[in-house]
Amino acid sequence: MYRVRLFAVRQARFFEWVYKRVEQVMILLDPVFAKIGYNRVERPIALVEKGVKTVLFDCRMCGQCVLSSTGMSCPMNCPKTLRNGPCGGVRPGGYCEVKPQMKCVWVLAWDGASRMKDGPTRITDILPPLDHTLKGSSSWLRVSREKAGERRKAKDEARRALAMAFPEARRHEPVSAPLADEPPNATPRGQGR
Ligand code: SF4
Repeated sequence: MYRVRLFAVRQARFFEWVYKRVEQVMILLDPVFAKIGYNRVERPIALVEKGVKTVLFDCRMCGQCVLSSTGMSCPMNCPKTLRNGPCGGVRPGGYCEVKPQMKCVWVLAWDGASRMKDGPTRITDILPPLDHTLKGSSSWLRVSREKAGERRKAKDEARRALAMAFPEARRHEPVSAPLADEPPNATPRGQGR
């Protein structure tokens, strides 16, 4: 598995591309997941995610995947599970202090990040502390659900802005923004729907 992990870091740019495509597909599937129920699809998707990522990245299913910020080198393989850079004990040649037979995951992370399009900027992000309650859950599902929700919210806000900008049009064509909540001042008092 260690060799595959090294391979994944060398191919970090390709996996970055794959990850973005997977995320787009998952976001497109949001209405389907919502209809089935996110709690019902959680388990099968987490199983697929675990299978794929265990082979490629030695994934430990922490539930808050940060591979795209760590050059496709999983920080949970660090014996100290450090998620914001290496400890002070990296050995000469970039080897781990605790497991001298393996490269420090953060040395690999910088290597992988330098090969990625967004890697050099993302690796400097400060990552939040690990939320252990998410362990075992699907990061793919959670992130795509959050992003789909953000897109829905942005669309609702755009509709609302349109309704606010054209009160006259709304009086004559009230169906032009049927899904937005009625802002209190969108139409003059007493003339709205
Ligand atoms: S960061 Fe978490 S979810 Fe991502 S590969 Fe590592 S253990 Fe798995």
